[in-house]
Amino acid sequence: MDSITALFTKDTAASARQVRASDIAHDLLRSLIHGGELGPGDLLPPERDLASYLAISRTALREALRVLEAEAYVVTKVGAKGGTRVADTPALERLYVGWLETNSSRVKEVAEVLVVLEKTAAALAAQRYRPEDLARLNAARIPPNTTGSELTRRHTDFHAALAICAHNAVIADTIAKLRREVFLPVGFLNARRRARIVEEHERIFAAVRDRNPEAAASEMSKHMPIGYLSEPEWEPAEIPSS
Ligand SMILES: [Zn+2]
Repeated sequence: MDSITALFTKDTAASARQVRASDIAHDLLRSLIHGGELGPGDLLPPERDLASYLAISRTALREALRVLEAEAYVVTKVGAKGGTRVADTPALERLYVGWLETNSSRVKEVAEVLVVLEKTAAALAAQRYRPEDLARLNAARIPPNTTGSELTRRHTDFHAALAICAHNAVIADTIAKLRREVFLPVGFLNARRRARIVEEHERIFAAVRDRNPEAAASEMSKHMPIGYLSEPEWEPAEIPSS
């Protein structure tokens, strides 16, 4: 029995500890900001609606927002024109630089694994895609001059579509999980960086379409280090319009 009991000693017990609803909401909102789906200055839905979308109590939501505000991810204003907004670009840029410094070794490790998985996904995609997969990848191509959350969304869609083309659920799930760890709102990087992302996706698309696995992997390896380990290059600050 002792060996069975040992299964439930502190390591296992810690992993089974109940995670609080406010922590889950906090992590979800932060990952949406990290990914750029929620962009600088975006107004969050009213508290009542947001609590209902997340299926948590308003008390738990308030706690999550309080922590996000203390971390400077969001700003809350009271009054008629009040509400909670994502922080502005300069504030997010500071958070990004701080996050990169604090998490540099983890980010390196995540980036190393992502490069391998994304290259493999690109090569497999070129070999295995079906016509309907390619239509989906085609729809996720980024038109030139796309910016902000729209660019971020298409960027994520493109990588997800590529993983679908590869027909390997383990690769697709692992890529999606690792991408949620990374703080990279691509749509808010500067114009030069954005143009590079668009171009690189076009080259990956062409290699996959032409069923050229070597070229697809090689174009992906040129694309992948983007943003992870280099100096962040952000769009100059903009004042939210409302
Ligand atoms: Zn990309």
